Amino acid sequence: MSVLTSPLNLAELDRPALEAAFEQRGLEGFRARQVFHWIYRHGVTAFGDMTDLSQTLRTRLAAEFTLTTPRVVARDRSSDGTEKFLLRLEDGRQIESVFIPDTPSQTFCISTQVGCAMACGFCLTGKMGLTRNLTAGEIVGQVRVLVEALDMRRTRFNIVLMGMGEPLHNYDETMKALRMLADEHGLAVSPRRVTLSTVGLLPALERLAQEPIMPNLAISLHAPTDAIRGELVPLNRKYGVADIIAACKRFPLKRRSRITFEYVMLAGVNDSPEDARRLARLLADVRSKVNLIPLNAAPGIPYERPSDQAVDRFATILADHHVTVSVRKSRGRDIRAACGQLIVEGERRENSDVVSGISPT
Ligand code: SAH
Repeated sequence: MSVLTSPLNLAELDRPALEAAFEQRGLEGFRARQVFHWIYRHGVTAFGDMTDLSQTLRTRLAAEFTLTTPRVVARDRSSDGTEKFLLRLEDGRQIESVFIPDTPSQTFCISTQVGCAMACGFCLTGKMGLTRNLTAGEIVGQVRVLVEALDMRRTRFNIVLMGMGEPLHNYDETMKALRMLADEHGLAVSPRRVTLSTVGLLPALERLAQEPIMPNLAISLHAPTDAIRGELVPLNRKYGVADIIAACKRFPLKRRSRITFEYVMLAGVNDSPEDARRLARLLADVRSKVNLIPLNAAPGIPYERPSDQAVDRFATILADHHVTVSVRKSRGRDIRAACGQLIVEGERRENSDVVSGISPT
């Protein structure tokens, strides 16, 4: 190995790539599978802890490879059991991941970018702007960290890609992460237990429609007309409501599955009975369900949460029009872990303190 090339980071390799890397170095294929098991089944983050490998091999692996894992720098527990993890990446940048218990199953809310470029008007992450994409290893790394921290190696969980970032704006790494998560020799998270939420990047959505690995799909719609949506979601000026609905109708859904339409409710903006009727008409022949999310207000967000009555009235109109509807219970609001509340405070300042990956403590 040349001193100019950095050691290969095993956290970024799917199993076939890991096997190839071992083979290239003259290591037996079954060793690669053993190491893969250690990383994903046993949650080990250091070669020294891979105790069924010889000491010589462990030393050699540590010399030739790295295995980066996000580091937990803060962990907040909400009164409702939701836990927010602040994680530090190798370059010192920080992201958040959230554990949401019993909804009805256990759910991990995972980030795909540091910040977000979509700049939706009601979302705090959108206020940060985009710092960078996460790598597949960093996306999967959040899951590895949460499984270990919560002692969930033997517990089933779902994943929602609804943390920081727009997953379809980081398409390749997100899809690679889904393949790595699905590996039956590793975490074995079936794509059926993963939901990808997007604001509607249509070219990437068309690509997703062709994928062999198909997560559940959620579309952040938030308004039934371009006039309203254009105000809330800047991307709507490029891909409008009609185009999104048309793409959803073409999307190859498995039997019995449906697309979730997320709808953040903002008082006086998109919560009128007329909006509900327009939404019902829009979704009339889409295999869909609507998830109403009453706004999680925050300082700097120029909108208000509607009253419970306004939310009920909206939901009732949808239901009367045969639209399946649920109201998302807000979880973790007291620790700012709720939807749209993920922001790494002081991110910019901290980054400027970080010198070539050596993080300040
Ligand atoms: N970028 C993707 C995934 C992340 S956001 C997307 O837009 O779908 C996950 C959900 O939280 C989205 O539906 C988003 O619109 C919603 N959300 C953002 N800010 C919110 C807020 N302040 N209150 C409630 N929901 C919010």
